[in-house]
Amino acid sequence: MAELYVDGRWVPARAGGRREIRCPADGSLVAEVDEAAAADTLAAIGAARRAFDEGPWPGTPAADRGDLLLAVADLLPRDRADLARMESLDTGKRLVESEYDIDDVTSVFRYYGRLVRDDHERRIDAGRDDVSARVVHEPVGVCALITPWNYPLLQVSWKVAPCLAAGNTFVLKPSELTPHTAIHLMRLLEEAGLPPGVGNLVLGAGPDAGAPLSTDPRVDLVSFTGGISTGKHLMVAAAGTVKRVALELGGKNPNIVFADADRDAALDMALTAVFLHSGQVCSAGARLLVEESMHDGFVADLVARARAIRLGGPFDAAAQTGALISEQHLAKVTAYVENAVAEGATLRVGGERVVSGGTGDTDLSRGWFFAPTVLDDCDASMRCVQEESFGPVLTVETFTDEDEAVRLANDTVYGLAGAVWTSDDARADRVAARLRMGTVWINDYHPYVAQAEWGGYKQSGIGRELGLAGLEEYRETKHIWRNLAPAPQGWFA
Ligand code: NAD
Repeated sequence: MAELYVDGRWVPARAGGRREIRCPADGSLVAEVDEAAAADTLAAIGAARRAFDEGPWPGTPAADRGDLLLAVADLLPRDRADLARMESLDTGKRLVESEYDIDDVTSVFRYYGRLVRDDHERRIDAGRDDVSARVVHEPVGVCALITPWNYPLLQVSWKVAPCLAAGNTFVLKPSELTPHTAIHLMRLLEEAGLPPGVGNLVLGAGPDAGAPLSTDPRVDLVSFTGGISTGKHLMVAAAGTVKRVALELGGKNPNIVFADADRDAALDMALTAVFLHSGQVCSAGARLLVEESMHDGFVADLVARARAIRLGGPFDAAAQTGALISEQHLAKVTAYVENAVAEGATLRVGGERVVSGGTGDTDLSRGWFFAPTVLDDCDASMRCVQEESFGPVLTVETFTDEDEAVRLANDTVYGLAGAVWTSDDARADRVAARLRMGTVWINDYHPYVAQAEWGGYKQSGIGRELGLAGLEEYRETKHIWRNLAPAPQGWFA
């Protein structure tokens, strides 16, 4: 079976190889898929270019484009169980989380399907009767959409839905580790009637399948979600042809707890903030900033609860969190913790691979499980406080007043998300206003809605996804000025 989708056809890779996709929870073979080499990606770019320049899609009325997205939103629930299972097999994530993600994907398609209908043109007052002036929004062109493995289909939907809504064509390259739900989404787009060439899918590793996407002059926009170093590399590569670039990068997100917070809620959510999906969440609350007066008891209780977290496979209902994505990632997280301890952090719990004691039938030794980890006595000079581990690792710092909490919270190159816990509403608002982050939760952690914008300050990214801003990323804006009574002006008479 061929898994690349180019110009409306499922095709085998011309030059790339095949990759085995294995479940991170037990190493079992999920499937083998085709991998594109540069030649395949160039063909996909050509198809997207032709579909943009010659095809009907960019000029299709916005309402019709919206209808296609709504049709996909109607198809997704039909395939929810299959999609959730695929997502869990590829990522090792708990089935219930995958089901939740697929429902989110449905909401995203529905949201953009509705949003695009009536948002096309704006009249402006030119201050003269003999002129009509308006601003119209037009698609950017061919978009390269590059996504990571932690929320595979959700990240894809955040790009594909607004990209199509705005009238663009695309080449999608999902993470090479988690291709299956992206393949299935292309089938749903096909079923919903997407014209050939408008949506194209290439699978494979970044340097092979992905590299042409940021250098080829036929691509107009690169929208990337992934790690900070890949993002910087793509930004430089895209500069050669002055592409539009949107980057959603990593985070090192502070979770600030004041002594007057609702202690039970703050404690409970501090665990969810960092250990959900084993910390493989860009907005994970991986830095706990706790007011010094409450540090000892709060951290002791946190450590006790972290120790009790149940690890297991995706289909084990008793499991509370799952495996890391790969052996390489396990090695990276292990080295990160070792380095933190060498820097002077105190390892309070976890810190190593777990190979026994899983819930249900899960044999942890067959997967890439890492123990929920708490590193105490950390400070801003340490790499473990500054760099993203993307694993189940919490660093703990203390502060004594509001100013210090804000200063520490802002003291990394990242600016994706953060939270503040306090019963003082005025303080919550003051701190939220001073955090240099794209999302701030007050007395909560992690929720998002499609209507809100998502994106990072500082080195966490460029541009915003979701909301109307998500659509703006995929549109050019054109001013059209019409002289209603053309006549000579005589300047050079
Ligand atoms: P990654 O940067 O390794 O890879 C992301 C994607 O880029 C993959 O599809 C990969 O194949 C591709 N890629 C790599 N090199 C490329 C190249 N030269 N040209 C084109 N494509 C290339 O990231 P990852 O490990 O898949 O994901 C984890 C990272 O993603 C974390 O840093 C996390 O914080 C970040 N992330 C951010 C958000 C957000 O919304 N800000 C959301 C999810 C994940």
